[in-house]
Amino acid sequence: MADKCIACGREVTNDEAGMTKKLINRGTTRYYCMDCLAKYFEVPVKNLYDKLEEFREAGCTLFAPKTK
Ligand SMILES: [Zn+2]
Repeated sequence: MADKCIACGREVTNDEAGMTKKLINRGTTRYYCMDCLAKYFEVPVKNLYDKLEEFREAGCTLFAPKTK
């Protein structure tokens, strides 16, 4: 069963769950979707996606490698 964003209730993707852990708390079980994370940190959503790709490229284990 997919986790849901605690702010808006929509299902979060693995990447969004990973971002919540990375940005808020590694041990959290309360996840935010990208839109709500952006609101929470008051940054454009695009910045979060840029960060996500940075983390992924750095080999962060929270994010699955891009499949070709
Ligand atoms: Zn949300």
